[in-house]
Amino acid sequence: MDKDDVQRLAEKIAAALDAAPERAGHPWLPTPVRPEPRVATPGALPPFAASAQQLSDVAPVRRPSGTPHHRTDYPAMVVAERQAAAARGPSPLPSGSASGADRPATTRTTREVAIGVSNRHLHVSEKDFAALFGPGKALTPHRQISQPGQYAASEAVAVVGKGGRIADVRIVGPARGRTQLELSPADCRTLGIAAPVALSGKLEGSAGGVTLEGPAGKVALESGVIIAQRHLHVAPADARRLAVADGDRVAVECGPAGRRVTLHDVLVRLGPAHATELHLDTDEANAAQVKTGDRALIVAATRAARPAGRRPLLTERHVAELAARGEKVMAGGPYLLTPAARDRAKALGIWHEET
Ligand SMILES: [Zn+2]
Repeated sequence: MDKDDVQRLAEKIAAALDAAPERAGHPWLPTPVRPEPRVATPGALPPFAASAQQLSDVAPVRRPSGTPHHRTDYPAMVVAERQAAAARGPSPLPSGSASGADRPATTRTTREVAIGVSNRHLHVSEKDFAALFGPGKALTPHRQISQPGQYAASEAVAVVGKGGRIADVRIVGPARGRTQLELSPADCRTLGIAAPVALSGKLEGSAGGVTLEGPAGKVALESGVIIAQRHLHVAPADARRLAVADGDRVAVECGPAGRRVTLHDVLVRLGPAHATELHLDTDEANAAQVKTGDRALIVAATRAARPAGRRPLLTERHVAELAARGEKVMAGGPYLLTPAARDRAKALGIWHEET
């Protein structure tokens, strides 16, 4: 049977089927008919056009609502994405995604520090102390302050400027190489002087023009008057927890609701001679409505530009001081240790190997 035979056989079968009584008048195969769309309103889109289709068109809803739930809520998606990007909300991406956007931006609890409010005070040289209190007199420790080895002395002086006078300015001991008077901006207005904001000990460009008055004499200061740069003392043992290094600048948030402030340009001073505390002057503390012992949060940190490997060196004496304060020395901490200091730390049981 060849191809032509097959064709002839097919025609015979078709003719026989068409001749059958039940198919009389009907064609062999029905002609397809395109259904006309049902148009409810002239000019409106037909209901089966995808752009206009509602879920209720194909599946009747019990209680039709104005908002079709099967549609993507784009404004809500945009809000969710923006919040996730700002780390204020959960990521819209599936959990475990590589974006990491659902992690909190700051781990606040571990970056908390105590505030210490510094009232106006005077660091005095041996020579100026003798001039103010008389030869042979020595500073009398009155109260230990937070920084190791420093104390508020019983002695106080009056400070006189061209605009006014402030009595009972406390001396902070021990005596230093140079006399330094630390005031708040409000104190400077009272005295009628313009002192620069400077870090303690950095007296280039500091102001003068005030006279110190003690029981035994007066000292006119040519320089040494500053407004203390806000700073954060950090003990070596806290450097890792706070993720800061000496010379960094951090921003801190403090104060109760309604008076909350963020203070920028807080200089980090890290070393064995420091106990962890944020030092603000009375003006700053009043503006934020905080007092000594309140807490502040480090909310941002700017790394200091410094040569690699410049870390403070801890000696045996520093280790003993740390042990006395109940602090630990960590292997790989932000300091260098002399071999003797390392042995001392191990002997005192404050050496930690953890990485
Ligand atoms: Zn300080």
